[in-house]
Amino acid sequence: MPTEYRKFDKRLLNVSEAIEKLLSEEENTSELEQIESWLNTQLGKIKLQRIKESNILKDQSYDRNLWQDGIMILNSAMEIIHYSGFKNYFSSSTFNYSRKFKFTEFIHDTDRESFEEAFSHALSHLKNETIEIDLKTGVGNLNRCELEIDIESSNINSDRYILYFRFMESNDIQAFDYQSIVFENLPDMDVYLYDKDYRYILCGGREKEKFNLNNSDFIGKKMFDVFDKQTQRRVFPFYNKALNGEYTEGEVRYRENVYYIVAAPVKNHQSKTIAGILISQNVTNDKLLEENLIKSKEQAQKADKAKSIFIANMSHEIRTPLNSILGFTEQLEKTELNQKQEKLINLIKNASDHLLYLVTEIVFLFKLGMDKVYLENIPFSVNDIFVELEEVFSQQTEKKSLDFEIIKDKKLPQVLRGDPFRLKQILMNLLVNAIKYTDKGKITLICEVQKETKGRAEVLFKVSDTGIGISDKDLPYIFDVFEQGNKRTEKIRGGAGLGLGICNRLVNLLKGDIWVESKLNLGSTFFVSLPFKKASVDQLKEREQQFDLAEKLLKGKKILLADDDDHNLILAEMLLKNWRTDYTLVKNGMEAITKLSSEKFDLVLLDIHMPEKDGVQVVKNMHSDNTAINYKTPAVALTANALKSDIHKYLKAGFDDYVIKPFKENELYNKLCNILGIKSEEIKKTNQEKPPMEEKSIYTEDKFNVQELKKAAGNDNSFYNMMLDNFIKNAGTMLKAFNSSLKIKNWQEIGEKAHKAIPSFKFFGLTNLASNFEKIEDLALRKKHFEELPELTNQTILEIEKVIKKAETAKTE
Ligand code: ADP
Repeated sequence: MPTEYRKFDKRLLNVSEAIEKLLSEEENTSELEQIESWLNTQLGKIKLQRIKESNILKDQSYDRNLWQDGIMILNSAMEIIHYSGFKNYFSSSTFNYSRKFKFTEFIHDTDRESFEEAFSHALSHLKNETIEIDLKTGVGNLNRCELEIDIESSNINSDRYILYFRFMESNDIQAFDYQSIVFENLPDMDVYLYDKDYRYILCGGREKEKFNLNNSDFIGKKMFDVFDKQTQRRVFPFYNKALNGEYTEGEVRYRENVYYIVAAPVKNHQSKTIAGILISQNVTNDKLLEENLIKSKEQAQKADKAKSIFIANMSHEIRTPLNSILGFTEQLEKTELNQKQEKLINLIKNASDHLLYLVTEIVFLFKLGMDKVYLENIPFSVNDIFVELEEVFSQQTEKKSLDFEIIKDKKLPQVLRGDPFRLKQILMNLLVNAIKYTDKGKITLICEVQKETKGRAEVLFKVSDTGIGISDKDLPYIFDVFEQGNKRTEKIRGGAGLGLGICNRLVNLLKGDIWVESKLNLGSTFFVSLPFKKASVDQLKEREQQFDLAEKLLKGKKILLADDDDHNLILAEMLLKNWRTDYTLVKNGMEAITKLSSEKFDLVLLDIHMPEKDGVQVVKNMHSDNTAINYKTPAVALTANALKSDIHKYLKAGFDDYVIKPFKENELYNKLCNILGIKSEEIKKTNQEKPPMEEKSIYTEDKFNVQELKKAAGNDNSFYNMMLDNFIKNAGTMLKAFNSSLKIKNWQEIGEKAHKAIPSFKFFGLTNLASNFEKIEDLALRKKHFEELPELTNQTILEIEKVIKKAETAKTE
């Protein structure tokens, strides 16, 4: 027997005596528990030894005496006095001290007798006995077990006999061994169990080996004895909080490594913290990985943004010459042409129309991707949409001799609330495809109500065709946008492959679903399911009500307008005056608040961005006191910002409605009439499109609007400035051309230059100047009325000079 083991034996003897003493006196469970824990520790040591000796770590034979799975103390009546070992191997888990179990209860019937024999033999001969028996285990199985009755170590005088047992074959036991091995050898991490004095009770993990420490350097020592002062300071809060009953986690740096530490309290059955557990994991590599991931994500985002900017830039660049091509083609069309020329002109027109359509679609897709598409939420009639679609598509299907039918669900509510324009856009895309990919048969648009509640309706739209269909292998890619064009999609998208990508994104934006069923050569059905709110016919009528400007329905209405921009004020004043309102103009939010506190208004128009107090602050102020005179006065936000998030913000802040700047006269007029609940004598549809200033031909200075550019540039200042430089350069070249051509009265050149300038000037919101260009173009190239041109050109030159200055100041640092 190794010396180690003899020492252990002796100690066991002492314990056995102690137990006896305890039993003879009054039962003291806490001391028994102490003893048990000592026994467990000893057993743990044996196990530890065994792991070291076992062939898992080293291929060595080991001392069988150290291979114990349980130690038991029995009295001569074979009652269990104490047991230490793996309780789960027994059928009864209730080893307590209130009831004595006979060890024979756990022995299989067939072996009971042999055990009793061996036990009495050992007792009578005072000699160690070893016997093999089947023990009943917790999982209902029998486990072959080698029992050793160790009389030599037993305390015979006290009627205490020691019994060791070793399971002959047990996966469970091996599993336990592995548990310890795993615990000991946890890679890249350390685990500690420590008591209230910060003394380590149990340690695992091999991370500490990096610093020439191993688990045995910790057990029995206090945290303060193991770590240097600096490390102590870093880790102490974790240790301490756990002992205070708190769970903590966080990162700590230690010698160029990063550790993720988790510390938790260990509580007893009364929820009192009795120890702490701390797990420290080396996450240096994860950190590096994380950093790299963040870097790659940023790079990807940059690339994505660069792509978006490129698209915006290119679209603008392409659109400008395209508009010219279209314009000149129109001019050419008006001249005398032979048949061949006419055909060619037609081809140019179709090709450029298509190109322009594509560029517009790309820009739209780009906006969709940037979440910059504002969705309407207005009452609309689905029926009206169907009437429109019927009109457009019955002509197109007729051309291809296809049948076309629209079938509506009778349950479809008359009026829904949502975005009718986007719905139309989706259905049109699907119908265009259906016609494009069908040569004979029928196109059908079916609309069904899927679900309907009091306030909501879920509508399913089906667009079916009897066309070429889509193969199974192509189906999964059908809704991909061009970004994924390098996959199989290239092949299936002979066209630009934008339509379905746009539909997909739009449907997502509308919180609906889109899918397709298709059979090659038989046809396809595209399904779009969309949720809508329901609205009433009255609400629809109200929205659609168009008021005639001539009726002066706003006459006498007290309106307050706050805007810090002089140009906007002049423009608004002209309108309000024209409409014969009783208006008051103020130049900032503070003035607006002062006015609102002393005078009752019928309506308030507030610019959002104003000095002192902005529009949102003013409207909040209006609603802060329900006794204030203008508490109930409707407020309309004037904003150049069409971002949906901002608009939601304004409406949430208390605005009743909003108008996007620059607004059209009719649009604002209608909105105000609607908000004020004005009933028109004669509701007529008025021409909405004409901008107010055009009719009067009074030139009003344009505001240089960089809103569109800002949207495209995001935070990219260099792109923003580059675009402005580009504009300034082109405007400068144009100025020179205007001046020199004016001298020699080359109206053709002036007309052409004016035409070319229109899109880029419109891009910066210079609508008045752009309409000057249109006039010049019209007079110079079409009407050939040259007499008005010198004055108009001169005025335009002056305006361009101003605009160049404005563009210079719009540049950022
Ligand atoms: P495009 O039609 O411009 O190529 P879309 O995104 O609208 O782009 O459609 C993508 C692809 O899906 C088309 O190229 C075509 O192969 C297929 N597809 C779309 N609609 C149909 C349809 N109704 N029948 C057959 N194939 C279709």
